[in-house]
Amino acid sequence: MIARQLQDVRARIATACRAAGRAPDAVALLAVSKTFGADAVRAAHAAGQNAFGENYIQEAVDKIDALRDLPLQWHCIGPIQSNKTRLVAERYDWAHSLDRLKIAERLSAQRPDGLTPLQVCLQVNIDGGPTKSGVAPAEALALARAVAALPRLKLRGLMTIPEPAPDFDAALAVHRRARALFDELNAEGLALDTLSMGMSADLEAAIAAGSTLVRIGTAIFGSRVPK
Ligand SMILES: *Cc1c(COP(=O)(O)O)cnc(C)c1O
Repeated sequence: MIARQLQDVRARIATACRAAGRAPDAVALLAVSKTFGADAVRAAHAAGQNAFGENYIQEAVDKIDALRDLPLQWHCIGPIQSNKTRLVAERYDWAHSLDRLKIAERLSAQRPDGLTPLQVCLQVNIDGGPTKSGVAPAEALALARAVAALPRLKLRGLMTIPEPAPDFDAALAVHRRARALFDELNAEGLALDTLSMGMSADLEAAIAAGSTLVRIGTAIFGSRVPK
């Protein structure tokens, strides 16, 4: 089932790329395996998937340990508290959810010398929800400059989690704002190559707006049982 759903998601991505006049390999697929066990990740890997996203740091570390025999790439896409930065710095390849300099500084200080720099994105609160995590768009440039200067981090881009939109056009409008901010930061010389946006429900709109990485859970693994 996972193999077939992965295939369907890859086909959706390819169709959306074609519709947007983009190359079929312009968009990377991150499989979001939160709440699913190591067996589900193993099945997805057997079907050709290597990059996995997780929200809950301890849950992810348990899976990383159980799957050590596979060449997987792990992306942290959930909130990072100060007391969890060491696990992220030591065990992950990417963190998409940076929104505070203090957390970025800890990750850089705790990233082991033997590993390549931690690849990071700034999470941007693109639709302005007052209680949402993510840096405000107006503060993204200053934070990006500060993070780009940290020695053991490599700033790759921006990540967004907009509120669910009622239709394609509404989703597209919000994703376009993220794309505009991404272009603005690049015009300031930041050399970003990753725009992490689009989930199971809105990947087509995200790709139309210029997403380079979609984070897909439900469409690959099925519905999650709420915690
Ligand atoms: C859960 C989650 C996803 C995947 O969402 P689906 O709707 O299941 O595809 C993507 N990004 C983040 C940050 C998530 O927490």
